[in-house]
Amino acid sequence: MLRGVGVSPGVAFAPALVVRWAFPEIPERTISPAEFDTEVARLHQAVQAVVDQLAALRLRTLQRAGPEAAGIFDAQIMMVQDGDFLAGVESLIRKNLLSAESAYEFKALDLRNTWQNARQSFLRDRLADLNAIQLRMLLHLLGRSADDAWLGEVQEPVVLVAHELSPGLTVQLDRDHVAGLISEEGTRTSHAAILAHSLGIPAVMGVAGALDRIADGTSVLLDGQTGQILLEPTPDEMEAARLQAVRRHRLEVQLESIATEPATTPDGASIVLQGNVDLPEEIEVALRHGAEGVGLLRTEFLITGRTSLPSEDEQTDYYRRVSAAFAGHPVVIRTYDLGGDKFPAAFVAPHEPNPFLGWRSIRVCLDQPEIFRPQLRAILRAAVDRHIWLMLPMVISLDELAESKALLAEEAAALRSAGTRAADDVPVGVMIETPAAVILADEFARAAAFLSVGSNDLTQYTLAVDRSNARLASRFAPLHPAVVRQLSQVREAAARAGIPASVCGEMASDPVAVVLLLGLGYTRLSTAPPAIPLVKWVVRNLPVTAAREAAALAVRATTTDEVHEVLRHALGRHVDLRLVDPSSALPRPSVGATLRRS
Ligand code: PEP
Ligand code: MG
Repeated sequence: MLRGVGVSPGVAFAPALVVRWAFPEIPERTISPAEFDTEVARLHQAVQAVVDQLAALRLRTLQRAGPEAAGIFDAQIMMVQDGDFLAGVESLIRKNLLSAESAYEFKALDLRNTWQNARQSFLRDRLADLNAIQLRMLLHLLGRSADDAWLGEVQEPVVLVAHELSPGLTVQLDRDHVAGLISEEGTRTSHAAILAHSLGIPAVMGVAGALDRIADGTSVLLDGQTGQILLEPTPDEMEAARLQAVRRHRLEVQLESIATEPATTPDGASIVLQGNVDLPEEIEVALRHGAEGVGLLRTEFLITGRTSLPSEDEQTDYYRRVSAAFAGHPVVIRTYDLGGDKFPAAFVAPHEPNPFLGWRSIRVCLDQPEIFRPQLRAILRAAVDRHIWLMLPMVISLDELAESKALLAEEAAALRSAGTRAADDVPVGVMIETPAAVILADEFARAAAFLSVGSNDLTQYTLAVDRSNARLASRFAPLHPAVVRQLSQVREAAARAGIPASVCGEMASDPVAVVLLLGLGYTRLSTAPPAIPLVKWVVRNLPVTAAREAAALAVRATTTDEVHEVLRHALGRHVDLRLVDPSSALPRPSVGATLRRS
């Protein structure tokens, strides 16, 4: 058995087709000064040809998966036309007398290395896009056909196994020929994963060693939800997988039937379910699932794949676009949470031995107001006549909150005196992500407009367990009693101050943890958009009185297993636990969800 991250649900069974690709060998070729112009012209012709290929893929994606998915290729087109990069290639052609392909390869390798070494960054999510466009460029410059030429030869249904899947390849697959996908690289938010999901092809990514372990023609059974892969499965295993698929289907039908229903418990408690939006393409998914606004807009993704920070105007447009999409509901914009596990190329940070304990997040923003102030101004400008809230990440002291509010007030005054249309103020809340913030929760609750628990980081900092270390996956336990009790304290502090409290970490999408959160009195949960229907289903089946009883026991429990058992037992009295994804019901939640961007 192999395991990876299930990125596109569904069960697939078919023989493996192992696809290996590599960057082509570039023959060493230097040029004479007389050839400069020809080589530069070849470079630009290749760019145009690749842009044409990508535009065709864009069109195909538009037809097959809709406008948001098609946007993936807009981004690739921008990448391939990147002026700074091409100027660098041109200068190598001229100064070093290199052929267009040698110069391109040299620069491409450099950029690839930078992105690859971006520690656990979501930039690595976009590495597949970068590889794909570079491969297209190099093949074109060498006069060779595109990397996906072999696709037409696939006749029988297969499970495609690759080191990495490019979006361009993925969007050309069809379910009649490709039953499922497995790749060694890739995460839930990688573009190939998003496309596989849109096309309904079950997929498991992040499967270490897949190419070594799976030979061509091996029978493969994969579960795109749990991320489990069985090689040469027995008849019993096939039957178990079939039954689980039937149950899942039953659950899907139930989830669809409540898509437009409110998130209200059987005893009448209303819960606000919001989406965590990392990438623009998630807006549509969140809306489709009835998200009542955005509980966490991760703004670091605005910078992904870019070498410069977005301008104030660009940010204003994006924030307005998101809030227009969720008209009438709040959009909680989290200010830059740079560093730690988020290192976009535009953010140049010194190497640190412990980035999670380092110069990150609000610390960076307060130390570098030239990054922070334009973001604050953009938020104020976008907030005119809109429900926009501002949320500060990784706060550990009241000073950080006060300083941020002072900067916000200064920027509001500056906008006013410049006659720029902007809100005078926006609600400012803090994320509770460290034990320090929990201990000061009463003080924060008095000074902030709302609190939102970032349970991913709160778990990491409470347990001293790196959220992105797969070796520690079984120790990363949001249901550890120390985390559970802090969740209770935060909720009580918010209630005493009469302000809203929400949870926006991954635990809010775990059905078992939802019992705890509802029982503790959290009425606002924000999750990755695809998880909204399942959370709503739990809410609609679980009386809040039952959740309260379970939460009271969980707060007194002394081990993670005990917490888990109490919550699972309560949930099991109201829903068929077998319908719930078994991975979410494991004693210790899988770290997969928290590794989304690593
Ligand atoms: C968290 O830490 O729980 C959170 C929501 O923020 P992020 O995952 O972006 O660090
Ligand atoms: Mg966090």
